Amino acid sequence: MYDVDDTIVALSTPPGPSGIGVVRLSGPAASSIARVIFRPRSGELIADRRMRLGRVVDPNSGETIDEALAVLFNAPQSYTCQDVAEIHCHGGPAVLAGVLELARRHGARQAEPGEFTMRAFINGRLDLAQAEAVAALIEAQTAGGARQAARQLGGALSEEVARMRDALVGRLAQLEAAIDFPEDELPLLDTQAAVDELERVRVRCDELARTFPAGRLLTHGARVAIVGRPNVGKSSLFNALLRRERALVHESPGTTRDVVEDRLLFDGIPATLCDTAGLRSDEQCSDPVERAGIERTRGNLEQADVVLAVFDLTQQIERDDLDLWRSLVDRPALAVLNKVDIANQDAAQQWRSEVDAPLAKATSAKTGLGVDELAHALGELICEAADVGTADAIVISARHADLVREAQSALIAAIEALSQDLAPEFAAFELRRAVRCLGSIIGRADSPDGAEQLEREVIERIFSTFCIGK
Ligand code: GDP
Repeated sequence: MYDVDDTIVALSTPPGPSGIGVVRLSGPAASSIARVIFRPRSGELIADRRMRLGRVVDPNSGETIDEALAVLFNAPQSYTCQDVAEIHCHGGPAVLAGVLELARRHGARQAEPGEFTMRAFINGRLDLAQAEAVAALIEAQTAGGARQAARQLGGALSEEVARMRDALVGRLAQLEAAIDFPEDELPLLDTQAAVDELERVRVRCDELARTFPAGRLLTHGARVAIVGRPNVGKSSLFNALLRRERALVHESPGTTRDVVEDRLLFDGIPATLCDTAGLRSDEQCSDPVERAGIERTRGNLEQADVVLAVFDLTQQIERDDLDLWRSLVDRPALAVLNKVDIANQDAAQQWRSEVDAPLAKATSAKTGLGVDELAHALGELICEAADVGTADAIVISARHADLVREAQSALIAAIEALSQDLAPEFAAFELRRAVRCLGSIIGRADSPDGAEQLEREVIERIFSTFCIGK
C-alpha cells in the first residue's frame, strides 16, 4: 500500500484550460510547503479554513507564477484527516504545472490515483463503501446516480450493512459457543430464532442485490443493445432513433461486424445505443469475422440494461426469433416488428401472438413510421429500469453486488445446515463467510477487525480506478 506519512500533491480539478485549477497538498509538510510557495498579499499567514489572496512565488528566483487563493485545513478536520493545503490558481495548464513542480521541489510527492481518498479511508474518515461512493459521485452520469452516491457517501449503505453484519456476528458467537463448550454448560441454541434472523438478513441481501441493475444504470447511464437476425433493420433503426446516418445500412446480410455505439438522452438519463452484428446460429455462419462479431453481440447483450429485439415482419418466424425473445423474459426488453411498410396487413398481429410479445411495436425504419412511439416506449422502459422506488440504500457498485450475492448464498447454506440439524461447525463456517462478505463492503482500515478482512489487493484495485487528485 502507499506510504501515508509523506506529503502528496496533485491537481484536484480536471487538466486542461479552465477558470480555476485547484492544487491540493496533504501530509505533515502540507502547510509548511504552502507557506514557502504562497505569499499572502496582506502579509498575514495563510490560515486554517480562511481563504487568503496572494501570489504563488518561486522562492529561489522570486518569480511570480500566478495570483491565487490559498487555504489550510488543519488535521484532523480535513478530507484526509491530515494537514491539507489548497491553492486555487488560474486554470492554465502551464501555470498549474509550474505550481505542482514548485510543490514537488519543496518536498511534496506527486499523488497516485485516488491517494487523497485512500488516506481518508486509512485514517478512518470514510469506510470502504463511502470511499467508493466518492468515485461514483464524481463519475455519476445522472442526477439520480449522483443522489444515490451522495447517500452512500453519507453512510446509508454502510449503516445498513453494518447492522446486518452485527446481527450475523451475534449468531455466530452463539454457534461458536455451542461448538466450544459442552452442551450441559450452555443454554440450548434456539435454532428457530437463529434461522429466522438469518432468513431476514438473507432477504435483505437479496433485495439489495436486486437494486444493482438500477444502481448501475443510474451511475453509468443505460446501455441499450439492438439485437436480432441479420438484415432485419437493426442499423436502420439505430440511425432512425439517432436521427442521423451513423451506421452503415446495406441490403446484404452481415454488414455490421462490430458493435457501433452512440449516445442519446432519455428524460435526463444518458443512454448508449449499441448496434450489433446480426445473430445467427453457428451452422448458418461460416465466416470467422462474422462469428467473432456474433460473439461480441452476445457479450453486449449480456451487459445491456435494456434490449431492443428487432424482428422482420416480411420473414417467416424462425426458431432463433422465438429463442431470442424467450431469453429476454426476465429483462427490460422491447420487441420491435420492423418493415411494417412492406409487410402484409396481418403480419404484425401474427408475430405478436406467435412470438408472445403482445406489446411489440411495429415500425418502419425506412419511412419513420412508429419510430417516435418506439423512442417513447424505450424512454419509459429506461426510466422504469432506473427506478429504485423508496429504497434507502441501494447497490451501485459491481463489487458490492457480488459481495451481497455471495453473502446470500452463504446464508442459504447456513440456514440449510441449521434446519437439518447438522453439526454447528457447518453453519458456523457459512456464517463466517457471510460476515466476511458484508465486512468487506464496508471494511474500515482503522479497526483491527476491518483490516483483517480487507485484502490489500482489493483495496489497491478500488483506489486505482480513481483519477489522480481525488
Ligand atoms: P441489419 O442487418 O439488421 O442492421 O439491417 P439494415 O439496417 O442494414 O437493413 C437491411 C436492409 O433492410 C437494408 O436494405 C435496409 O434498407 C432495409 N430496411 C431496414 N429497415 C427497413 C424498413 O423498415 N422497411 C423497409 N422497406 N426496408 C428496410
